[in-house]
Amino acid sequence: MYDYVIVGGGVAGLYLATRLKNKQVLLLEEHKNLGPRRCSGLISDRINKFFDLPKSIIEREIYKAYLCCGEVSAQINLNSVVLDKEKFETYLLRQAEKNVEVKYERMIKVSDDYHGVVVTTSQGVYRTKYVIGCDGANSLVRKTFLDEEPKKFFFGKFCYSNEKPSDEYRVFFDSKYSDLFAWTAPRRNKVEYGMICEKNLNSNYENFIRDKNPKDTSEDYFGVIPTGFCKCSFPKGILVGNAAGMTKPLTGGGVIYSLIAGKIAARELNKDEPDFRNYEKKCFEVLGKEIKKQLLARRVYSKLSDRRKEKLISSIKKERFNIDMDFPMTDILKDKKMRILKSFFGM
Ligand SMILES: Cc1cc2nc3c(=O)[nH]c(=O)nc-3n(C[C@H](O)[C@H](O)[C@H](O)COP(=O)(O)OP(=O)(O)OC[C@H]3O[C@@H](n4cnc5c(N)ncnc54)[C@H](O)[C@@H]3O)c2cc1C
Repeated sequence: MYDYVIVGGGVAGLYLATRLKNKQVLLLEEHKNLGPRRCSGLISDRINKFFDLPKSIIEREIYKAYLCCGEVSAQINLNSVVLDKEKFETYLLRQAEKNVEVKYERMIKVSDDYHGVVVTTSQGVYRTKYVIGCDGANSLVRKTFLDEEPKKFFFGKFCYSNEKPSDEYRVFFDSKYSDLFAWTAPRRNKVEYGMICEKNLNSNYENFIRDKNPKDTSEDYFGVIPTGFCKCSFPKGILVGNAAGMTKPLTGGGVIYSLIAGKIAARELNKDEPDFRNYEKKCFEVLGKEIKKQLLARRVYSKLSDRRKEKLISSIKKERFNIDMDFPMTDILKDKKMRILKSFFGM
């Protein structure tokens, strides 16, 4: 009998596995090569609080981004890096293997019984005291044990072009491209063209690629991003990462949130008698409140015309400020950054 079976070997599952100590743990991942490519890997330098990453994993550091809509653009300062996500996950896997057993099997069923939880895969049946759902957007653990879903699902698509990268990360808010945003992002030796949106992904993406006309492109990569924090604990386990919508409603980014939630989860799971409600409560304090604010901002944003977006970008242009990429709403709603919102709404 395992103490925990972690389902899913993405960032959330692998990082949690690295932090569990003196427990019998099995990690199940359905893909031998750690899952399909589906993440741009642009994250804040908060990553340095978690790891001292080898240089080979960081494709590039990015210090500024241009926010663009129509003819207007404004520069903002960022402290961010672009990760080679495959190398990053391999790095996490090597650490995780020191702590837990890893099997490449797809979980097809999970159910509870009197003694714990029964996890059935394509190749076997495993018994565990608790199950940890790190199984992403369509989490089977969530669907089995909880009757709640993340509030929204975004869709992302991107490709690489063999163009020479500049230092510019450009974000396009034009509604002809996306109801969220599109981007061109420099990587180590190439440029990424991508977008996330809630609706009409394929036709929007075609428009964007036609307009930007990147040269010598790779195949397209696709992924789903659930967002809007949902219930993440139940008597027989917890959810971590995308499975519980732990991503930013304004950008879809979820790597740092998965690391934060993984750290909170490990603190509870390493106890002799874990209380999963503590985990949920702490995650809500740290992530849920910011996610709620971002959902609200997202709702306001969805009502803005392109002219209003241009006006907002122009007010940002005058100020030139840094923003906390992971907690932007908490950051914006305090001190002088509030001025921008006030001037935008004519207050
Ligand atoms: C297009 C796109 C771009 C993104 N860009 C960024 C970005 O720039 N920055 C950022 O911070 N975040 C980004 N994200 C989000 C980020 O990738 C995730 O939030 C983060 O990696 C956490 O993912 P996760 O581990 O919770 O889930 P996933 O990465 O989805 O991992 C879940 C894992 O579970 C496995 N699995 C699922 N079901 C089963 C099963 N039944 N049995 C066994 N295994 C199973 C899957 O194979 C997968 O490996 C992006 C996402 C997309 C789609």
